[in-house]
Amino acid sequence: MRSRPARGVRTVLDEFHSFCHPERSEGSAPFWQHAMTSPLSSLARAAIGALPRYQTDDGFRIDLSDNTNLWGPPPAALRLMQAAPAQLLSRYPTTYSDALSAPLLRYCGIGQQPGLDVVVGCGSDDILDSTMRAFGAPGDSIAYSTPTFTMIPVYAQLNGLSLSPIPFADDFDVDAERLVDCRAKITYLCAPNNPTGTRASRAAVEYVVSNAQGIVLMDEAYAEFASETFVDLLSRNERLVIARTFSKAFGLAGLRIGYGLGARDTIEPIARARGPYKVTALAEQAAAAALSETDDGVEWVQRHAREAVAVREWLTGALRALGLTVLPSDANFVLVLTSNATHLAHELRKHGVLVRLLRGLPSQPRALAECGGSALRIGVGPWETMQALLSALEEVLSCG
Ligand SMILES: *Cc1c(COP(=O)(O)O)cnc(C)c1O
Repeated sequence: MRSRPARGVRTVLDEFHSFCHPERSEGSAPFWQHAMTSPLSSLARAAIGALPRYQTDDGFRIDLSDNTNLWGPPPAALRLMQAAPAQLLSRYPTTYSDALSAPLLRYCGIGQQPGLDVVVGCGSDDILDSTMRAFGAPGDSIAYSTPTFTMIPVYAQLNGLSLSPIPFADDFDVDAERLVDCRAKITYLCAPNNPTGTRASRAAVEYVVSNAQGIVLMDEAYAEFASETFVDLLSRNERLVIARTFSKAFGLAGLRIGYGLGARDTIEPIARARGPYKVTALAEQAAAAALSETDDGVEWVQRHAREAVAVREWLTGALRALGLTVLPSDANFVLVLTSNATHLAHELRKHGVLVRLLRGLPSQPRALAECGGSALRIGVGPWETMQALLSALEEVLSCG
C-alpha cells in the first residue's frame, strides 16, 4: 500500500510541484501518487517519501533556465581542475575547508571585522539545509516571503519544519511586519529574490533583522549582481546568517560549493549540523583559485558580473519593447509576467531555447494575480545568446 503524506504536507508539495514543473502537473495525477510505489518505501518517513525528485531539462542549444554563469567558470579555476594532482582525488578533502575562511571574509569585505566566521558547504543549499537543522527542531516554523527559492519548502520539509509563507508587498518588497509577526524560529530572506529578481529594501531587511524572534537566514546567491549587500549587518546582529554560493557569478555550479557567514557562535552549530567532509577537495581548491586576486580569478568574476548587469538592463528594455511586462531585476535573470507563459515556453523550446516556466505563483502581490500567476524566468548571458533568445521570441510573438 502506498502511504500518503498528511494532508497539510500534501497540499504544500502539490503546490511546490506545480510551481517547479507546471508542464508535468498538467492533466497528470499529483506527483505524490507516484512518489512511493514499492512496499518497502512505505517504511520511509512520510515527509521524505512524499518529496519529489528535483527534475530539470537538459540538452538545449540555449539553456537560460538555471541562472548559472553562461560565460563559464573563471580561467584560474579551470586551470586548477585541469592540472589537479592525483592526490587531490585519492585522499580525503579537509574536514571543513577552513583554508577558505580568510579569503571568503576578505572577498565579502568583512575581513577586518572581529568575531565573524564562515561555514563552507556542498552548495549553498547545504548551508540553507544545515542552518535549518541547526536551529529548527521538528515542529518549529520557518517564515519567508513567497514566491521564493523553491528549495526552501523542500529543505524545510526534510527538517520537519512547518511553513509560514507570507506574500510580498505590492512593490515586491518584503512585508517585514508580517514576517516578524510569524514569530518563527527561522526567518528566510532572499535578496535579490529568486524567482522575481527583485530587491529587498534596506529598511525592510533591517526591520526583520532587528525584530525577528529567532535566526534570520539571508540568501545572497545573487549578491554579485545586486545594487547592495547586507553583509554589513553581520557585525551588528549575531542572529543573522548570510548564505552565498559559487554556483552563480563564480561559474562553479557543477562543483557544488557555497558558504555561510555569521557570528562565530552562530556559525559553529551550522558546521556541526552540516557534518565533516561535505565539500570535495577539487571544489575547495577551485574555489580558492577563483578567489585569487588576479585577472583570471576574482577580477574575471567581477568583470563578468558587471557585464551580466549591463546585459540584464539591455534585455529588460528589449523585452519591454516587445510589449512584455518585466520586473526590475537586481540579479542575473529577469522575470517576465505573462498569462501566455506556457505557450511561449513551449514555442521557445521548439526554437532550442529553454527558459524556466513558472505557474501557480501566489495571487499576491497584485502583479502576479494580473498575469494569472504564470511567468517566464530568463537567465542573462553573452550577447549572442540574448540575440538568439530575442529573435526566437519575436518570431513566436508574431505568430500569435
Ligand atoms: C541558485 C540559488 C542558490 C544556489 O544554490 P547552490 O546550492 O549553491 O547551487 C541558492 N539560493 C538561491 C535563491 C538560488 O537561486
